Amino acid sequence: MRFNTKLLYGNFEPDEKTGATLTPIYQTTSFQHKTAEELEGIFRGNMPGYIYTRINNPTIDSFERRIAHIEDGVGALACASGMAAVSLAVMNILRSGDEIVSGRGIFGGTFSLFKSLEEFGVLTKYASDNQIESFERCINDKTRLIFIETLGNPKLDVPDIQELSILAHKHCIPLIVDNTVTTPYLVRPIEFGADIVVHSTSKYINGSGSSIGGIIVDSGKFKWGFDKYPGLKEFKKFGIFSYLAKLRKGLFKDFGACISPFNVYLNSIGLETLGLRMDRLCTNADRLAHSLAANSKVKTVNYPGLKDNPYHELAKRQFNNKYGAILTIRVGSKENAFRVINSLTYAANLANIGDVRTLVIHPASTIYATNTIEEKERMGAYEDLIRISVGLEDIEDLLADFDLALEQI
Ligand SMILES: *Cc1c(COP(=O)(O)O)cnc(C)c1O
Repeated sequence: MRFNTKLLYGNFEPDEKTGATLTPIYQTTSFQHKTAEELEGIFRGNMPGYIYTRINNPTIDSFERRIAHIEDGVGALACASGMAAVSLAVMNILRSGDEIVSGRGIFGGTFSLFKSLEEFGVLTKYASDNQIESFERCINDKTRLIFIETLGNPKLDVPDIQELSILAHKHCIPLIVDNTVTTPYLVRPIEFGADIVVHSTSKYINGSGSSIGGIIVDSGKFKWGFDKYPGLKEFKKFGIFSYLAKLRKGLFKDFGACISPFNVYLNSIGLETLGLRMDRLCTNADRLAHSLAANSKVKTVNYPGLKDNPYHELAKRQFNNKYGAILTIRVGSKENAFRVINSLTYAANLANIGDVRTLVIHPASTIYATNTIEEKERMGAYEDLIRISVGLEDIEDLLADFDLALEQI
């Protein structure tokens, strides 16, 4: 089954009872069972069945099965948000005293999470760049995972997933990959050796900016050593499902970060058109990037689709000739950046990516406002930088809109 067909049919069948073509919204807190024996069986995990929506729910289950199939995982666990997914994916295998090794260009929210985890005795070391040696230099006997994003935001840097998975496995630790920005349409990290994939489904998977959500997918392939991961020992009997079993029976249930059936329903609708949208979004982004690169008002354009971009070759190979739908431009000063943003007709000025419409933001004064200058520079949030998440508009309208706005500086 190819990608777009998988989005519609992969691990998915019409509702058994009614034939409804979409899994209905089971907007209920709990699920009634005929006998005390039956409920006992479900609680003990000896019988299939639903208990309570904080733990499982048919609408959520359907979405999890579809995403697991698309990402080539053995299973998935949907969460209230992308941040809930990132938090739970790492905390499921961490203890006080452990360390994370992370890529540099990660999402601000994840950077903030890793900082918060210091209060629980978990330290994060950041590789100085995307060279494998820079990651390896940060690894020691306390390291429990490598965390990267497929395409950094707003830095738009591209780590080599395959090389990093080899490095992680050499040190008997898993590689966790945030695939939000590229989506499974551009890359399925498990194919390149990643062990766990996380998403904010609020972005491209939902597609219309209509609900927050996140998901964790496990490849089921990582061999957990119980010296390093003693918490997983108890779940050994679940075999390839041990990571997900520990999570669902443990922190996921305890944190209460479940997604609502309604939100997961909206994300399921979005998922079905992911391929169609990504194709158009990437084409639009490529056209806009080339047009902006030729505009003398723009100092630099950062987009991996441009031939002179340092990540062009890797992105081409890893993302199957696509380069995503986010680009950034630098326009010389914060004032210029503000003037351009204020002059645009179509692009919405807001803190999100992956919508159907074009979105712009000045990251340095918003998402990164509370970071130090050094942190901002390190994460690529320069004072004169505008981030553009390209939408589905007719490209001629977008090109004209940006040309006109840039004439104002
Ligand atoms: C938005 C985003 C998140 C967080 O997702 P939310 O759904 O907003 O909680 C995590 N990682 C990346 C790469 C993101 O873009």
